[in-house]
Amino acid sequence: MERPNFESGQKLHTQEQENTKDFLSTENILRLSPGETADYLVSVEEQGRLEEFLEGAVGDASLLAQLSYWEKWLEKDQQKLLESIIEKKREIYPSESESLPLELEKRFSEDELKLIFNNTKAIQLTYGCSMGCAFCGFDAVKGAREHIPYSQLANLYKKYGLELSSGVPFLYWASEPSDYASKEGLEDKTYEDVHELAVHYAGYDPSITSTNLKDQEWMDFMASKRPNSENSSRRFSVFGMKEPQLVQLRLRASASVEKAGESGREIEFIGPTPEGKEFHHIKGVGKSFEQQDDIDDIPKSGIACVDGVLLTPRGIYNLFVVPVSREYPQGVIISPLEKITDEPVREGDNLKEVMRRSVIQGTYSHEGAMLKNEEGEYEDFQRYVGTFPKTATIYCKYKWYHARVDQNGNILTVDERDRYGIRKEKDLEVKD
Ligand code: SF4
Repeated sequence: MERPNFESGQKLHTQEQENTKDFLSTENILRLSPGETADYLVSVEEQGRLEEFLEGAVGDASLLAQLSYWEKWLEKDQQKLLESIIEKKREIYPSESESLPLELEKRFSEDELKLIFNNTKAIQLTYGCSMGCAFCGFDAVKGAREHIPYSQLANLYKKYGLELSSGVPFLYWASEPSDYASKEGLEDKTYEDVHELAVHYAGYDPSITSTNLKDQEWMDFMASKRPNSENSSRRFSVFGMKEPQLVQLRLRASASVEKAGESGREIEFIGPTPEGKEFHHIKGVGKSFEQQDDIDDIPKSGIACVDGVLLTPRGIYNLFVVPVSREYPQGVIISPLEKITDEPVREGDNLKEVMRRSVIQGTYSHEGAMLKNEEGEYEDFQRYVGTFPKTATIYCKYKWYHARVDQNGNILTVDERDRYGIRKEKDLEVKD
């Protein structure tokens, strides 16, 4: 089958120049919201050209990243087709074990890679999640089906440990960490082995949040401390769990902590509040946004808590936390990172576009989204607690910027610095 060409984006393979005019360009597709992306694929399918479109899209790093991230929004048969095309491509072009994840060294210079890994806040080891929670705030598709090869993660941590020690990325996103478990293609490695790379080469103990409540070995691992663990946490997500089960779980966790002896550590349980009230996964974040009533008057928060870079088996992205909206239903602006350029950032630009050609500073953003109401009780509603305009620090090729951004990602003001952090003097306006 001939592959259609896309106007921009990172080409992974040579594509034919014909068959171009009927499909939206990469640039235009990346501008779409997830709902619009899904609608666009329906229209392509109605033309009978879905397979042709997807064949081309998976050869374009940005489109592969975009469609994979929003796969849960697609029709089931479209998801299936996309997955089968990706699998076929992986067989034809297997990734090289001596490379970095996604073979990033072929797309970015050494300095650019240092900048990227310095600001990386999350590394998603697997694509898809075995848990498949109905109201997953990250729209994980059900079933772990792809992983970043261990050898590539080892290359990453060995070479860029210093940079990664700055952002201390946790090792999951739309995924369950324990899904990275020994099986064919995983070189007999598990999540624990990847965790050890972070401890050994980057000197930090990654925080973990897990929903794997059944596996005792995993529980034992969660209960044991690693070096430099002062700022790391171990949390089990127990949303919706009934009190008697929770009591049992706490007993098992205590037994694991005791077994670990001096290296035992605290395990937290997230879901029930100190008052004993329980939360379920909150409907209305991610795909379920479409099913909820209007929330325009109260800004709602997603579960994303970091700005910066996200690496997954399907793409590398910039993230910036904002309230949940139709445009950003997970409460995070997310764009595939395509390149790092010296194109200036200007007032009036949109951050989503800028994030395709720059690196967003890695930082925690709007922590503690659950609020108490006036009566001192935790609110059911996950209210957004950040304020706007919010500052984004944006690194380009030779300059960086402090940009003040509104909740729709519009850049309101820009403060430019050179590579040494020296502020650009604004030209004085001379008025008559
Ligand atoms: S909420 Fe967490 S455990 Fe559940 S599907 Fe999403 S990523 Fe997986």
